[in-house]
Amino acid sequence: MRIAVAKEIEVCERRVGLNPDTVARLVKQGLEVWVEKGAGERSFFSDSAYQAAGAKIISDTVQLWNEADILLKVSPPQEREDGRSEIDLLREGSILISFLNPLGNPLVAQHLANRKVTALSMELIPRSTRAQSMDALSSQASLAGYKAVLIAAAALPKYFPMLTTAAGTIAPAKVFIMGAGVAGLQAIATARRLGAVVEAFDIRPAVKEEVQSLGAKFVEVKLEEETTAAGGYAKEISEASKQRTQEVVTEHVKNADVVITTAQVPGRKAPLLVTEEMVAQMKPGSVIVDLAAEQGGNCACTDPGKDIVWNGITIIGPINLPSSMPVHASQLYAKNVTSLMQLLIKDKALQINFADDIVDAACITHAGEIRNQRVKDALQ
Ligand code: NAD
Repeated sequence: MRIAVAKEIEVCERRVGLNPDTVARLVKQGLEVWVEKGAGERSFFSDSAYQAAGAKIISDTVQLWNEADILLKVSPPQEREDGRSEIDLLREGSILISFLNPLGNPLVAQHLANRKVTALSMELIPRSTRAQSMDALSSQASLAGYKAVLIAAAALPKYFPMLTTAAGTIAPAKVFIMGAGVAGLQAIATARRLGAVVEAFDIRPAVKEEVQSLGAKFVEVKLEEETTAAGGYAKEISEASKQRTQEVVTEHVKNADVVITTAQVPGRKAPLLVTEEMVAQMKPGSVIVDLAAEQGGNCACTDPGKDIVWNGITIIGPINLPSSMPVHASQLYAKNVTSLMQLLIKDKALQINFADDIVDAACITHAGEIRNQRVKDALQ
């Protein structure tokens, strides 16, 4: 059984599929691990560290992809410099484990099915208690929530904490977090640690207690409709509810020094939470960090991947924030994929068991077919 770790070719991707510690654990289980030369470079893991952990370093990319039983990577497969897709390097019947963005770009799933690759999408790991150790969306969202606050603090022309000094008293910064999922909760905790006064808002009322337990105030908007879908995710809300929430949150956006938006609805464009009119009412010098920039943004003024200043307000739309902390992002991701692989390997041999709800949910292609109905629908 050969597990191979590819070197990421996407320019913004600094993470790697396994770190040396997890390689050592897999080798101890009797598995063979190949690591592409330089795969860990941008995460500060050297080839010699992988070698010391028992991996074989492979310089030939085509050989690594083609001879892998399980190919691990982080970003979805890309087009190579020679114009071929990385997917075309995979051997029929082999397994690919990666973020695959199958709902955003279902053509990747079609291509994988055509190649007869068994592909497991890290985005589709269920958010259940049993799957917690495999939940890469959570491990990476937590990094993003933390980093968003640091970025906001660095861009804000003010202190975060309250300070009483001989030169006078400094009032604490006011931070408003929109969307209190994994990233939002980590952002609340980080902003609180830095001494800010924090408010948070989410359309799912179930998060109120978690928000309060982190020392933030929950901004409640009572909506008539059900806002929670299967798996605890948010549903897209009606126009009337959108208007109602905007009425309530406008005042909180206006008073905030920092707004961090994290709201997403799986498989859809991110909801618009901060309109241009709302930004126009903010104090000059205030900062917005839009964590949904890659999915279209929660703020009307966001330009994905850019920091812009609009009417004196700084609006930051970062792309792939977890990748800016590649050491811990890769360490956590490696644990997530290693836990998932334990479900696929029995007695050092591959065993794909679709009766296992985690394997069933995450596996988007097998034996030439797309297995996931939502991915099939997205292709229509
Ligand atoms: P996400 O990234 O999909 O969305 C972030 C947050 O935005 C969510 O809290 C969502 O409710 C909120 N949101 C969506 N539309 C909004 C709107 N119009 N206005 C304001 N907020 C809006 O969420 P996530 O962090 O991936 O978490 C999704 C769900 O999965 C949550 O219920 C979470 O508790 C659950 N979860 C469960 C486990 C587990 O049991 N193992 C692990 C992680 C997450």
